[in-house]
Parts: sequence; C-alpha cells; structure tokens
Amino acid sequence: MNNSYNRRRFLGKLTFGLGITALGTSGISSLFACSGSTNEKRTQQAGEQKAQDKLGIALVGLGQYSEGELAPALQETQHCYLAGIVTGTPDKADKWKKKYNIPDKNIYNYQNFDTIKDNPDIDVVYVVLPNALHAEYTIRAAKAGKHVICEKPMAITVEECDRMIAACKEVGKMLSIGYRLHFEPHNKEMMRLGQEKVFGAIKKLRADNGTGSTEGWRLDKELAGGGPLMEVGIYCVQGVRYTTGMEPIAVRAKEMPKTKPELFKEVEEALSWQMEFPGNIIAECKTSYSEDMNLLRADAEKGWFELSPAYPYSGIKGETSKGKMEFEQVNQQARQMDDFAKAVKENRATPVPGEMGRQDVKILQAIYQAMRTGQRVEIS
Ligand code: NAD
Repeated sequence: MNNSYNRRRFLGKLTFGLGITALGTSGISSLFACSGSTNEKRTQQAGEQKAQDKLGIALVGLGQYSEGELAPALQETQHCYLAGIVTGTPDKADKWKKKYNIPDKNIYNYQNFDTIKDNPDIDVVYVVLPNALHAEYTIRAAKAGKHVICEKPMAITVEECDRMIAACKEVGKMLSIGYRLHFEPHNKEMMRLGQEKVFGAIKKLRADNGTGSTEGWRLDKELAGGGPLMEVGIYCVQGVRYTTGMEPIAVRAKEMPKTKPELFKEVEEALSWQMEFPGNIIAECKTSYSEDMNLLRADAEKGWFELSPAYPYSGIKGETSKGKMEFEQVNQQARQMDDFAKAVKENRATPVPGEMGRQDVKILQAIYQAMRTGQRVEIS
C-alpha cells in the first residue's frame, strides 16, 4: 500500500479521536519516520494495524498450533492482528519477525515476558504452551494487564482454573478458552438441533475423538496432565455438553489396554467413558492416541443428527435423519479470535469463557477418578 495513503487514512482516524493512546508516542513517531530501516518499517506496519482499530495479539509459544493455525488465521482477522510473540528460541523469533513483520519491541522471551505490561501494542495474550504452563502464563498475562485467550485444556486442575479466573477478574480483563468449534457452522448446528430439540428430546449421544499417534510433551504426565483425554477427548466432553446444553451429573470410565506400553508409560493410551445427563441421557465417549476417530452423534425421539468428522480444522461433514447439512467451511481460529476481539471492544461476554474451561477440567478430572477407581463419580 502507498505510504501517503496510509498516512492520510491514519490522520483521518486520529481526527475521530482514535489511536493516540493505543499507539503510544513511539508508535506515532515511527509511523511518520522516513528512515528505511526494516525494524522501523515493521513498527510502522504494526501502527497501521492499530490505526485500523484492531486489537494486538501476542502469541505465547510458537509451536505447531501457533505456527500452523493461529498465525495464518491472524492474517485473515478483521478485529485483531498478530502484534507480538513470546518465545524461548531466538531462531524462531528471527524467522517470525521477518515473516510477519513483527517489530523488535514486540518480541519477548519467557524471562522478560512480564515487561509486556508496558507495551500498548499488545491488548491480548494468547497462551499456546504445553497444558501445565497455561495457568502460570495466563496469570502473568493478567498481572501485566492484558486480556487472555488460553488454549484447551484450560489447565491441569480445577484449582489452577480458579486462580486463572480470579487473576483476570482482579484486573478487570477478559479470559477466554480456545474453543474454536463454537464458531464453526456444523458444530453450531449441532447446538441448535440439540438445544432447541428440533428432533425432540435427545435420548443418547456418541462422541469419539482419537488420533493415530503422538509424541513429545504430550506423553509427559506432568506437562500434559494426562493422555488423549486432555488433548482430544476434551472435544467429546465439549461436544456432548453443547449438543445437549446440559451438564453431566456423573461419569464412569475405563482405561483400554496399552498396545504400546513403552510409549505410554505415564499417560493412558486410550480410554472409554460414559457421561450421565439429567433425564437418563447417556453419552458414550472414546478417545485414543493409537486410533483415528472423529464423531459427534445424537439420537433423539424423532430422528438423529451427527458430524463425522466433527472436530478437525476443516472438512467437517454433517448429516441428519432428514438429509445432509450444507454449511460452508470457515477459518475457525480467525472467527474465534475475531469474536474475542469484538467481545473486548464491545465489552460483552465471550461465549467461551474461563468458566467453561473450568467445567471441562472438572469433568476431565472426574473421568480420571472414575478410571482409577472403577467407580461412578458424581459431578457436583
Ligand atoms: P507444540 O509442542 O507444537 O508447541 C509447544 C510450544 O511450547 C513450543 O514452541 C515449545 O518450544 C514451547 N514450550 C515452552 N516451554 C516448554 C516446555 N517446558 N516444554 C515443552 N515445550 C515448551 O504444541 P502445540 O500443538 O502447539 O500445543 C500447544 C497448546 O495448544 C496445547 O495446550 C494444546 O492442547 C493446544 N492446541 C490446541 C488446538 C486446538 O485446536 N484448539 C490444537 C493444537 C494444540
């Protein structure tokens, strides 16, 4: 884009009272700087995004999900943009700053992360770290005065979730969980069909989510908090909760025999469990790190409705007893982050708040307790 056009547009925005405080003086001066240095250009481009009234997001943890999904999605968002990064790997910082035009002043490591509080470019911190680190970084981000999006599962324990929610409340900032499927049309249709009882009352549900392999920290109980239940089984818990619009009252669970005990030393390899809802509705669920599965199905009084696959980033297919669902495939992450940015701007609640993440962690913990004890575990 032509520079004088941008400058005019920016000045136009300023006359409507936008942007001065958000940009800070360094942002403004760099926007008008004539120097051709690359970093100044990056600062200028970041300033332009701010001037368009977009919220700045900083991704914490530049692993597969940030690199493969969130950063590309942030190139499509209307209400937020990739403003900063937090990484422990200098090589990654270099690669990302070139690829996404991130100015040096918006690049942090895990040690200096707390100084992000002084950076007006960053409105939202998005925690995309191994599960056991979600609580620490969410709380540090809140203390730095930022809104937070935290990836699923929200944390390892309910107590951590409580501290995360309290930290954000204390500073008056919003907390949301990366539940992208709440912004996906087929999954939204499952919510509508189930909650509005379009096929009558639901009688039973089936939810399976499994992947054929895994590696790294996901096999480490301390970092992951558990096996496939924490990673992909959580989508089944979410799926049956949003399809019924109800909360489970009890769970039962059974660990499946390990086919690769040398790999799954600390966490389960596969697990099946049952969730009991009011009205005698039963959800049968399965998760695995050694079998690909992807289903969400409800059987109701007057028909059935299902997604298969139900949970991937794209290619979701839906069908009901009356025929196929016809919905577009969307960029789920872009919609999720845009909705959060709009919620912040409009000062309204997010549909996927910390409390929802906490409830899932509570259910996951009950499922593990049921697995360990062989007992039916009630959820208070
Ligand atoms: P990953 O292993 O690819 O990336 C993790 C990142 O954390 C890496 O950049 C790593 O360097 C960094 N890190 C910092 N401290 C670490 C430590 N002590 N040990 C290991 N890594 C450390 O993982 P990912 O797939 O990007 O997953 C990150 C989070 O995102 C997880 O909580 C996961 O559940 C979630 N996730 C969500 C979705 C979704 O669809 N919503 C999809 C994938 C992952």
